[in-house]
Amino acid sequence: MNRNFSGNFAELKHKYFFPKSEIFDNIINRTHVFESFLNETSLQGALLEREKEGGNFVSEFIKILESKIPRKVWELWFSTLKFDSVDHEAKKIKLIVGNLFIKEWLEKKYGKVIQKSVEQTFGKDYTYSIDFETVNSDFKADKTIESPEPIVKKRPLILSNLNDEYTFENFVYGDENEFAYRVAFEVAKQPGIYNPLFLTGDVGLGKTHLMQAIGHHIINSMPEVRVLYTTSEAFANELIKAFKENSSTLFREKYRKKVDVLLIDDIQFLIGKNGIQTELFHTMNELLDQHKQIIICSDRPLSELKEFQDRLLSRFQMGLFVKINPPRLQTRKLIVKNFSKRYGLKIREDVLDYIAQNIQGSVRRLKGAVMKLLAQQKFAGNPVNLSEAAQLLKELVDSPAGPKVDFKTSLLKLLADNFEVSIDELLSSSRKNEVSFVRMIGMYIAVEYFGYTPQEVGSWFNRGRTTVIHGIKKLKSLKIDDRIINKMVFIRNQLSAKTGDSVI
Ligand code: ADP
Ligand code: MG
Repeated sequence: MNRNFSGNFAELKHKYFFPKSEIFDNIINRTHVFESFLNETSLQGALLEREKEGGNFVSEFIKILESKIPRKVWELWFSTLKFDSVDHEAKKIKLIVGNLFIKEWLEKKYGKVIQKSVEQTFGKDYTYSIDFETVNSDFKADKTIESPEPIVKKRPLILSNLNDEYTFENFVYGDENEFAYRVAFEVAKQPGIYNPLFLTGDVGLGKTHLMQAIGHHIINSMPEVRVLYTTSEAFANELIKAFKENSSTLFREKYRKKVDVLLIDDIQFLIGKNGIQTELFHTMNELLDQHKQIIICSDRPLSELKEFQDRLLSRFQMGLFVKINPPRLQTRKLIVKNFSKRYGLKIREDVLDYIAQNIQGSVRRLKGAVMKLLAQQKFAGNPVNLSEAAQLLKELVDSPAGPKVDFKTSLLKLLADNFEVSIDELLSSSRKNEVSFVRMIGMYIAVEYFGYTPQEVGSWFNRGRTTVIHGIKKLKSLKIDDRIINKMVFIRNQLSAKTGDSVI
């Protein structure tokens, strides 16, 4: 569970690289995100009160429950939990949480554990129920929203071109992304509830899809609400143009006054673009002050956007972070099935298995595979068989010897492209400082980011296992320049996108 959240900010490996600024510590230490729900009547507060009333079963219950739940989950999900009452006659415990979403999540994921704790504390025949408080999300769109339902339904205000396919119905998820899906759906139903919402995850995992699904849902269910989707690149270009043409007032009006839900995609594009970040900061401030919903996507976690202005980062931090994970095998199968159905591909079971097993990482590549088979099906007039599929998808699947070969080649090439060394030098016995340094970076990326063993990485560089271990250790002890970190992150993302290997 915690993997979806800010857990990734605490990853030690990042710590080695990033100088500790105050803001950064903040991010790293941010263990729970539901702070807004925490108040003095939270679990601990309620507990004290009950204790006073002599209800010391309650603290026992909490202790037992807490001991069964991983710490991060506890902080994330149980922070709004209040003990309401115990009815000894009916043998019923009543608990209360912050909202319906949390209630359903806890019941589904931790229902059994809660029941067990209830039984252990109060007795075998006790049961429990969870209620929720109604949270006012504060979201304010057009005034018309409060007026009675119009007889003739308003046509939605179309401010942005959303991709018709990027809907919740078309988004397939398994356990690994159920949380992301549900949070997105919750925001779509109740904008303002988590604000800003920050979606991260590697390239091609469905960030844009999920973000636009929120947009579609809001447009359809609340036609008065003005939803604006843009990429940070388009935002930047528009701003530059507005400055050139002296029309920055119009620009500001559009982004700060004429939108109720702002979707900004690919925020990582703004790394190093200070002026645009300033504009975005003021845009966000103004929108959030008016209780408008903001959703942001980034293919880098916040910990890698460290170059962003601190004030912008703190604005992001006020919201909820959700990581989209690579789909697991079972989900990949479902996704391919879904694509096949949608595009009319007749897919054989063995071909389906083949794709799901051999194309990992990006969902975009799964889609690519389905499209290739579809083209062939149209051409040949009948469904593709397994050997034809293997032939057709050669380029898309991870190489038969395993992705490792690909990974090594890609890594060496990316290192040579991004630093001033050649592949030959990297593989040579050269001990020149610049060469050793880049070699260490390569080793670090392969071992620390992707989980290759020092032994195999050593063999790629014609070196032994201990050289790799020492190299990584040395690199960690050095103070690394920001530009180098950016290059490393770039290489990491490229590798993940190209080889389909998941970052650990
Ligand atoms: P990202 O923005 O994370 O790079 P996209 O949202 O552009 O990824 O997704 C890439 C493609 O894969 C899109 O066509 C999208 O519809 C599809 N896709 C991604 N994730 C899923 C999913 N879970 N279910 C169905 N389609 C998905
Ligand atoms: Mg995207």
